[in-house]
Amino acid sequence: MRFDDDADLDTSEVRDVRGGRVPGGKATVGGGVVGFIALVLGLLLGVGPEQLGLASGDPEPVATSSSAARIEQSCRIVAVVNSVQDFWRAEYERRGGRYGDARTVVFTHRVGTACGPATSAVGPFYCPGDRQVYLDLGFFDELRTKFGSSGGPFAQAYVVAHEYGHHVQNMTGTLARAQDGRAGANSDAVRVELQADCYAGVWARHATSTPDEKTGRPLLTSLTEADIRDGLDAAAAVGDDRIQERFQGRVTPENWTHGSAAQRGEWFATGFRTGDMARCNTFR
Ligand SMILES: [Zn+2]
Repeated sequence: MRFDDDADLDTSEVRDVRGGRVPGGKATVGGGVVGFIALVLGLLLGVGPEQLGLASGDPEPVATSSSAARIEQSCRIVAVVNSVQDFWRAEYERRGGRYGDARTVVFTHRVGTACGPATSAVGPFYCPGDRQVYLDLGFFDELRTKFGSSGGPFAQAYVVAHEYGHHVQNMTGTLARAQDGRAGANSDAVRVELQADCYAGVWARHATSTPDEKTGRPLLTSLTEADIRDGLDAAAAVGDDRIQERFQGRVTPENWTHGSAAQRGEWFATGFRTGDMARCNTFR
């Protein structure tokens, strides 16, 4: 994965609240908090929405990296967020609609959201209440160390693109279908997750041909087969069956919330192969 060396990144699309103290104990919306919490999707871990509000205690400390590596990683996240939104803006325009921007908030440990407080333990998530993506960069280390993914740079891009897939679903109205609280291999919750994987693939397909708003040139200049493999590998690593096998020792499809490793990989591949969001109908 390569980026345009002369890119003019739009840092306003990412808010970094690391280091600052963020009130994590208070929900910013009164009433209906539970409903809002149910709306937060803990996107990659096998946690159900009901667990989101209960995740407590400090997550394991994230290995500290050099400041140079940290800056590089931050820049990469900004570039991917810019690229993903460049694509969806163009796609909406092409379809005669208008894309509403969504910001990514980078945090550590815990964060307050319109969907209630959350900790890093839930993994990256999207909150429809404030239309923001929440990301603790430590998750990318966990992808490798805890979930056994190759964790290459494109694996990170896949995660970001998946979250923005939920933002698109929030605009199309599909996201609401994940809220009936049911889990299981055939649940709407799983179908919503698989569609977000497919949308991530759709972005990947167009990433190197979508001009950036600021420069008129694509932010991503190359995406190799190895990159796509990293994306597929990450999608599979966070499949419900893999996670269950790893952490509970057996596979129970009735508890699935995100889909199996095979399904996640297949839907990402469908999006990438077709480049067409209309082919991401996981509800058929
Ligand atoms: Zn998701």
